[in-house]
Amino acid sequence: MKLWLTRPMPPEVEARAKESFDVDIRASNDPLSADEMRHALRSYDAVMPTLGDRFQADVFADVPDARCKLLANFGVGYNHIDAEAARAHGITVTNTPGAVTDATADIAMTLILMTARRAGEGERMVRAGRWAGWHPTQMLGLHVTGRTLGVIGMGRIGQAIARRCHFGFGMDIRYIARSEKSLGFKAIRDESLQDLAAASDIVVVAVPGSPETHHLIDAQVLGAMQPHAIFVNIARGDVVDEAALIAALQAGQIAGAGLDVYEFEPKVPEALIAMENVTLLPHLGTAALNVRTNMGMMVLDNVGAFANGDEPPNMV
Ligand code: NAP
Repeated sequence: MKLWLTRPMPPEVEARAKESFDVDIRASNDPLSADEMRHALRSYDAVMPTLGDRFQADVFADVPDARCKLLANFGVGYNHIDAEAARAHGITVTNTPGAVTDATADIAMTLILMTARRAGEGERMVRAGRWAGWHPTQMLGLHVTGRTLGVIGMGRIGQAIARRCHFGFGMDIRYIARSEKSLGFKAIRDESLQDLAAASDIVVVAVPGSPETHHLIDAQVLGAMQPHAIFVNIARGDVVDEAALIAALQAGQIAGAGLDVYEFEPKVPEALIAMENVTLLPHLGTAALNVRTNMGMMVLDNVGAFANGDEPPNMV
């Protein structure tokens, strides 16, 4: 089994890959070019792609007799891969669900708290030497305890965020999902995005990126939110119409936003950077060594099962 890891991995993952497979490890952290993707399909039995590697229908069509039979994605989100086109070319796609859930929920909490309590703005003030001292009406933010959280996409990560907000902060939970969820706490499933937006103090997006969820959050949804409410996205950038989000923030339709992902990542619009009430993180959702190690181990589990002729545990 000739395997290509398309990015440097945590040491334990690289060590296990070298023990178990005939592995090449690409030194660059840049997304694969079209030439590199074609090389991947031609030259390896299994390839580990990740965010930014756009394995779309045209790439598969360019290599009709691909040696590669497995794209073992590093990450739960695989919207950069056209999984249907891969299947049509006899290529299996796997991902790494579960390993990412708690860490990404924690980043959602970071964004909720930083945005609600104006932590980024306050930090910038202190660092710039502009803080003149405490006073009773200084930098008043949104007190999150006891508020209503609206979760768009009540899957693994959405539920982990809801649990943290409900049990940790006494919040009421509302959600949107394609199917009814049986949760260990009370939660209202809304009929429409507008209903959820209107009823929530904090709205968090946790749906996968896909053609169906592209611009799911548009001017109408943002317009239905309350002026004191904050909006958080830890899912994928293009789930949100970024121009509509900027307009809603500039018009004061919502109080602030916390973002881990961007529509044209890694490009972050100047308009967002200019606004003090927006928290901007560089896609940190799973950025912790043991999480990235666990994700890499899941990739190798998928490759190992495939190599043994078994069904990989995390087929998409
Ligand atoms: P998941 O368990 O599959 O949950 C996805 C949820 O979205 C499910 O509740 C699903 O509903 C719902 N959903 C899907 N399409 C929908 C639609 N069109 N309308 C309404 N709801 C829809 O996935 P997950 O593990 O929680 O991960 C979610 C996403 O987070 C990933 O796909 C990835 O893009 C992103 N992510 C980001 C980071 C980061 O670093 N920021 C890290 C990890 C993941 P049903 O349950 O009814 O099917």
